[in-house]
Amino acid sequence: MSWQLKLQSIKKMKILKFGGSSICDSVRIKTAADIITRSHKECGEIAVVVSAIHGVTDKLIETAKKAYRGENYKDILNELEDRHLAIVRELISAPEIDPTINFIKKSFAELQEFVHGIWILGEITNRTLDYVMSYGELISTKIIADLLNKIGLNADYVDSRKLINTDLNYGAANVNFNLTNWNILNHFKNNKNIQVVTGFVACGPNNETTTLGRGGSDYTASIIGAALQVEEIEIWTNVDGVLTADPKIVSSAFSLESLTYEEAMELSHFGARVIHPPTMLPAMNRKIPIRIRNSFNPKFEGTVIAEKEIPSAQSLVKGIASIEQVSLLKVRGEGILQTVGIASRIFSTLARKQIEAILITQSSSEHSICLAITSDNIRTAREELEVEFRLERHLGHISEISSETDVSVVAVVGEQVQNIPGVTGKIFDALGRNGITPKAFAFGSSVRTLGLVIPHNDLKKAMNALHDQLFLSRQKTLNLFILGPGLVGSALIDLLQDQRDFLQNKLRTILKVIGIANRKKMFFKDNGIDLSEWRKLLDESMIKTNLQEFTNYVKNLNAANSIVIECTGSEDTVEQYIPLFEGSVSIITSSKIANTLSTDLYERIRNTAAQNGAMFRYSANVGAALPIIDSIKNIVHSGDTVEKIEAVLSGTLSYIFNKVNAGSEFHKAVLEAKSLGYSESDPRIDLSGKDVARKLLILIREAGYKMEIADIKVESFLPKEFFEEINLEKALISVNKLISKKISDAKKSDKVLMFIAKYEDGKAKIGLEEISSSHPFYHLSGNDNIVALTTRTLYRQPLVVRGSGAGAKLTASGIFNDILHIANSMS
Ligand code: ASP
Ligand code: MG
Repeated sequence: MSWQLKLQSIKKMKILKFGGSSICDSVRIKTAADIITRSHKECGEIAVVVSAIHGVTDKLIETAKKAYRGENYKDILNELEDRHLAIVRELISAPEIDPTINFIKKSFAELQEFVHGIWILGEITNRTLDYVMSYGELISTKIIADLLNKIGLNADYVDSRKLINTDLNYGAANVNFNLTNWNILNHFKNNKNIQVVTGFVACGPNNETTTLGRGGSDYTASIIGAALQVEEIEIWTNVDGVLTADPKIVSSAFSLESLTYEEAMELSHFGARVIHPPTMLPAMNRKIPIRIRNSFNPKFEGTVIAEKEIPSAQSLVKGIASIEQVSLLKVRGEGILQTVGIASRIFSTLARKQIEAILITQSSSEHSICLAITSDNIRTAREELEVEFRLERHLGHISEISSETDVSVVAVVGEQVQNIPGVTGKIFDALGRNGITPKAFAFGSSVRTLGLVIPHNDLKKAMNALHDQLFLSRQKTLNLFILGPGLVGSALIDLLQDQRDFLQNKLRTILKVIGIANRKKMFFKDNGIDLSEWRKLLDESMIKTNLQEFTNYVKNLNAANSIVIECTGSEDTVEQYIPLFEGSVSIITSSKIANTLSTDLYERIRNTAAQNGAMFRYSANVGAALPIIDSIKNIVHSGDTVEKIEAVLSGTLSYIFNKVNAGSEFHKAVLEAKSLGYSESDPRIDLSGKDVARKLLILIREAGYKMEIADIKVESFLPKEFFEEINLEKALISVNKLISKKISDAKKSDKVLMFIAKYEDGKAKIGLEEISSSHPFYHLSGNDNIVALTTRTLYRQPLVVRGSGAGAKLTASGIFNDILHIANSMS
């Protein structure tokens, strides 16, 4: 046989295989016919492989089993027959319809008789099952071949039992490739119409009907494609090819343009529904690309599985797959290192029971071997190993054979996983940041996979964190929970809405608000709240706010990259910080409380956050959106020391004194500040200096000094009675004179009054001061904040940060900056 010659002449050919879901009803079958027509026009030579109509194979098995149990099997058969007939009637009009209808009726009559035989004998074998199942493909293929002819293509119905020869391993027969390839070449040489071939079905040495195993019609396509050395095999299914992850777990998963055969095999091994690996072998051996396409979305070009990936589509990682319901089997003991062959005995013991290890790690320091195996097998595995190592257990060489359930395996697959050192780093970084420590990990059966065993509860979180991290160039998602949507909180929500497109398009960052809670009610929506109606949703919510439940919700959801944004300003909320950090949830706050309670709490918060990979950000504590806290952070990180802090830290007081210095009456200036929303509702809270003291303490602590709020000396410039008077206006007017006297005194020496916070030489104080015209603060205006930082290196000229530092909007943008900071730290 001159194969080579033959091969070259049909190289431009394509195989199109249609799976059950792509032909589940008459509408889908029409679409399939359109796809075939177009492909035929564009490509010329094609062959079609068809599987059974969706669900039919399962139903056929059910019929056979019912008959075997002596139950009523006829109803299902009748239903199946009606379903097929109805489809044909919808597709093909008279007079062409008769042959197809007759074929179906004849087939079901045969089936009925055969299944009746099962019923009488009460016996069922894999052989009988194969025969029964074969009708699914025999009938669906006939329907499609007839339809193609009806719409004007020349198509031949081909019973694959004429082509594919196997042994008698019913249920999953092994192909005799010599014979099969010869049959196929011969057949295609002599038949120039479009050959429409039954998938899945094959034939034993003496014409017995066999099948290639469930899902086997892909295999049929691969066998025929390989024999004919076609250009490409197209598998038409109902999803957009191969995705980076299961979209039910990772909503940002996307379709891959290409991957290698090996990558596809690894992904399948680790549970991804790609394509059954043995299916690929014939195509792979002949280097024929397999393209997975979506008949529900024919515009999608498909994912190509080939020997090499498309260079433009290269990426570090191809997919993240997972296997649930896994157990970790641990064999431990001093003897493991000393005794040769323990590992191989473990594997052969398991192999005898056909138990496969999903992942294996051996740690030399711990003298242990860990295997991840499916939970169904864990009991047998342990029992078998106990028997196998009875002697070693007795001698104490093996001290432990134990197992841990409720774990899952996550596999990161890609040709580059091992080649590029940074990839593994990124993987562990993403997990660490979300508080997940793998219990075991190993490069998989090949170096292109890193398998990680993690607690099952963390699976979704891990998959999402890894997906965001490894496909970062595509996108990252932060999950936000907002506590206290008051002035600042609601300004933040507005900002999140305004910036959504910018974030998504320019920064590829998605900020999803999952929960909002005010003092009364809370509302959650796991796939993201529509922010345009958050007030209404919160209003209508039936859940009463309970901070502990809020925290539990956030922790139980266990979403990757969770951030609680806390704008309540209440002390109760601070109690939630530690539990949230323990769940690896980050916190951003505008409230100064947590940072100004005891040093002990201050440190505990930071340590807990760090231990759990969570972040704690509070830029808006001082100066709203001004980079004051970050400037101190930078100074400290660079190894420099802050030696002196001098600052105007209250936008309210800044505004009031700027007015008063310019000639305004005190009480008018204060009431103006209040009406502009610059002050607390009782401005005396600002005037007491308490808030400024807190801000100063935060800066001092940020600079690395230990101090408590009581250590800050507050010099009040107002009498006690001022704070006790019930009527605000009366109180304000009562001190007008006092203030104007202070102002005029200062003016005499060309000075102005300012409320200054100061730290130097371990001492901190706040109070009203006279500022001379040579001082950098002299020209302060509006509600400006200003901070001058003198450091060891910046001792001549301090670093000065100045700008508007008050108001809900600016505070919200301070929080927003913190969110972006966390997003950026994920790169
Ligand atoms: N119809 C067979 C099955 O359901 C083969 C296939 O669909 O590929 O397993
Ligand atoms: Mg199928």
